[in-house]
Amino acid sequence: MAEEPELHYGITPRPVYYMCINCGYKTSKEEMDTMPSIMCPRCGFRVFVKVRVPPAYRPPRKVYAI
Ligand SMILES: [Zn+2]
Repeated sequence: MAEEPELHYGITPRPVYYMCINCGYKTSKEEMDTMPSIMCPRCGFRVFVKVRVPPAYRPPRKVYAI
């Protein structure tokens, strides 16, 4: 399983999506990489905003009581 080389402070990077600002179509980075150029598959617009998906589930942090 390929990990993204981008690491933020050792935290596993969350999936990044790109959203077309013209039609609002969301595409994943993986899908974008397969495209010959950066453009919206739906409308052909070339301007995207980067969207980070908020974590759906945050595992509880184990803290040991002193
Ligand atoms: Zn679009």
